Amino acid sequence: MPLERVAGYLIPMAEKASVPVCVHYDHGLTYDKCIEAMDLGFTSIMYDCSTLGFEENLEKVGKMAEICHSRDVTIEGELGHVGDNEGAGKLEKPEDFYTDPDQAVRFVDNTKVDSLAVAVGNAHGDYKFPPRLDFERIKTIADLTGIPLVLHGGSGLSDDDFREAVKRGICKINIFTDIDKAGKAGLEKGINAGAATLTGLMEYEIGAMKEVVRKKIELFR
Ligand SMILES: [Zn+2]
Repeated sequence: MPLERVAGYLIPMAEKASVPVCVHYDHGLTYDKCIEAMDLGFTSIMYDCSTLGFEENLEKVGKMAEICHSRDVTIEGELGHVGDNEGAGKLEKPEDFYTDPDQAVRFVDNTKVDSLAVAVGNAHGDYKFPPRLDFERIKTIADLTGIPLVLHGGSGLSDDDFREAVKRGICKINIFTDIDKAGKAGLEKGINAGAATLTGLMEYEIGAMKEVVRKKIELFR
């Protein structure tokens, strides 16, 4: 869906919400897309240059942070690289892609990002192997940088993983696959309950997704 449509649909809902809601443009991969998101009214962006080298990531995100802050928009960077699970188990030393604490300090000090996505054993999508998060690394980076840390790839982590990660300094969690799957389970439930139309099924889907989100909000405290 074009970004313009997403913005037109979501931003008015966020503005009407009874609690403060930010509309975040996640994994912005290009300068132009991030600017477009801000022009459309997104209140937060992620500029993801994590596949580039450290210096280039720092320079590009630093420049974007200046623009964001001049427009009262918050910015998230990523250091280390949170990959997807397609490559899981194929890496000899996955730690090579983890966020380095000393680099994190330099990155945050120089770019002035408001939050930092970290690579600590997490991955996008469905985990093929039980994930093992590096909790010590989360705490070290949180203590050294003093800014909120972001955990991508939240689907498939256990409740204990979340509690521990939050305790160690994770402040924002990106989670989609688990909510997406709940939607599918809701549809199945609706079909089994005899719902005869697509519109009849939607309440089952939305209800199931809402329930997962509600539980996660409580769990993340
Ligand atoms: Zn992500």
